[in-house]
Amino acid sequence: MNRKRFIQTSTLVAIGTQFSINSKLLSLFSYENIEIENLLGLSQSHLKSDTILLEKDTYEAFLEMKSKALEDRIDLRIASGYRSFKHQKAIWERKFNQLIKTHNSTKAISEIITYSSIPGTSRHHWGTEVDLIDDYVNLPDGDLLMEENYHGNGPFSKMRSWMDENAENFGFELVYTKNKNRSGFNYEPWHYSFAPKSKSFLKLQLQENYKKAWGNLKFDGKSKLTKKFMDSYFNDYGTGINPSLMPS
Ligand SMILES: [Zn+2]
Repeated sequence: MNRKRFIQTSTLVAIGTQFSINSKLLSLFSYENIEIENLLGLSQSHLKSDTILLEKDTYEAFLEMKSKALEDRIDLRIASGYRSFKHQKAIWERKFNQLIKTHNSTKAISEIITYSSIPGTSRHHWGTEVDLIDDYVNLPDGDLLMEENYHGNGPFSKMRSWMDENAENFGFELVYTKNKNRSGFNYEPWHYSFAPKSKSFLKLQLQENYKKAWGNLKFDGKSKLTKKFMDSYFNDYGTGINPSLMPS
């Protein structure tokens, strides 16, 4: 084997070891041009490469919605759009390694998943999700993605009302609604999803092949996530969303 070939092969082996995705699973798994790596946050091939990283159709629809909102003096800005597995892993591990100092693993995990997804399961991996703020107003100090900023006299209240009225016309739906009977993540008035595309991602995420591939990912605290826990997590958190975003 020549040196170049060896380097290529060993790089592939290194990637394979890091994520340990079975290549047979990968080839089985593709739907509407969505590959399993796109679902897991391991590849950006489904994204429009620009200053805003979003799935291609989502990107077009978002720009249309943004220009319409500007007419009403609302400047839709994406606080968080696409997030890679690596990024979600960093968020998760930072929280997990902090909480595990003072909590048992069950408590630590249940605290993290109030707002943060388990790496490899985040809808933000899909590029179809946007956490929105309004850049037209003076931004408040501190954490922007807080419920009080989106209601009452909050700075993003006008944006939220506008989105209530108009988002659907552009294909965007609130994911984690205020409905008290909904399971999964808490209410997030900032998180919208581009339904025409994210329904396909969710359809794939509900398949066993996806779960098997997810099982091969590695991050701190993963050994504490039992099969039983993950089955109920996929059910409660994966489908505990606005019914308009459920695949047919
Ligand atoms: Zn979000």
